[in-house]
Amino acid sequence: MPSAFIHFLGAAGTVTGSKYLIDTPNKKFLVDCGLFQGLKELRKHNWDYLPINVSEIDFVLLTHGHLDHVGYLPRLLYQGFKGKIYGSAPTLEIAAIVLKDSAKIQEEEAERANKEGYSKHHPAKPLYTLDDAEKIISRFEPLPIQEWISMSDDIQVQFLPNGHIIGSCFITVKLGEKKLVFSGDVGRTNDLLMPPPHRPKEADVLFIESTYGDRLHPQEDVKARLKEIIMSTIQKGGSLIIPSFAVERTQLLMYLLWQLRKSFEIPEMPFIIDTPMGSDVLNVFKKFSDWHKLSIDECTEMCKMFKIVSDIKESYQVIYSHFPKIVIAGSGMISGGRVLSYLQHYITKPENTLLLVGYQAEGTRGRKILDGVHEIKIYGRYYPIKMKVEILHSLSAHADQSELLDWLKDILLPPEKIFIVHGEKQAAETFLVKLKDTYNWKATVPSLYQIEELHY
Ligand SMILES: [Zn+2]
Repeated sequence: MPSAFIHFLGAAGTVTGSKYLIDTPNKKFLVDCGLFQGLKELRKHNWDYLPINVSEIDFVLLTHGHLDHVGYLPRLLYQGFKGKIYGSAPTLEIAAIVLKDSAKIQEEEAERANKEGYSKHHPAKPLYTLDDAEKIISRFEPLPIQEWISMSDDIQVQFLPNGHIIGSCFITVKLGEKKLVFSGDVGRTNDLLMPPPHRPKEADVLFIESTYGDRLHPQEDVKARLKEIIMSTIQKGGSLIIPSFAVERTQLLMYLLWQLRKSFEIPEMPFIIDTPMGSDVLNVFKKFSDWHKLSIDECTEMCKMFKIVSDIKESYQVIYSHFPKIVIAGSGMISGGRVLSYLQHYITKPENTLLLVGYQAEGTRGRKILDGVHEIKIYGRYYPIKMKVEILHSLSAHADQSELLDWLKDILLPPEKIFIVHGEKQAAETFLVKLKDTYNWKATVPSLYQIEELHY
């Protein structure tokens, strides 16, 4: 009986840095290759070499295009990776945008740190450049979804949509007779834009995310809440700043804002999306219309309402304009990106509102604000938080605890091994207990760099 070894290289005991190596006698491959975000001790791993021989990795499979699942790819090149990267067609387009965006933001921030001298590193360097991102993107190769694809004599893979973002899938890897299911990030059952997730029917080895493994999303009228937040902000003459990266909740926010404006529930004002690659994401939405619920006409009409700002000089024109406005700018967890420049100018003014809509990982500014800190540090300076802070958990792109349990309900035979990944310790451990209670399944929470043997 051959043996494979599973190496947990990220998203083990934490949410970010998704990376699993499957080392079989014939092929070695990664499932996802994400960047660590948040806590400094995690982020420093982004600069480390992986504790494996990267030049021996044959290929990478991507569940979806988010930075914490694809953002480490350019670092593989430095370490000698020679293979190809596979995913659904929209995932690869989103991943390309995300990588270029991330490289551009890192270049901008290194340049700024060197000019203003606030970094401990002299000179401050980007983790990778736009050129590095382009090089890895040239290795992308889209695979069809639904069908089984043979990667070698004893490895077959299948991608099925899981409703999290455009292009996102869960991946089943058939290793001989064993089925390994990688959940990726599981989407919501009733999302306004995404169709409901497909569910796995069999799994011998299950890798299940647990971002919201200990929580339920609130049941609320999200449109009414958003309207209320907008109206109370503009009545004070303030602006609404929504941290969200272009492929996080941006399209859903755009959709809700467009609906509110169309029915004259909110007044005419500038609706800004500030991100280096924002318009490219909208093109992916137009190109892959069967991956979401909007028609091409709706997409086009919705997009017309927004001004896309991609040049940093233009960002400052928006920042210095005194009219009430709604700005969506990355990153979603306020860990970097254009939103920082907005906050430098808006956070100390009580008439403005900051609206948090996505998951805020531990160690990020977004999480600190959620936890109620009174000041945050931006580019080496502290700013007191005077603007109003609002949270809309119901806009999350992640399944909550009950939706995660529901996603597993078609698996009739208990998996032989279950790894609870992509969750902070408490969320993962709560979900472990819940799996035992609901299905009588026994799971474990792997730790970073743990290696597990699998006979197949
Ligand atoms: Zn994701």
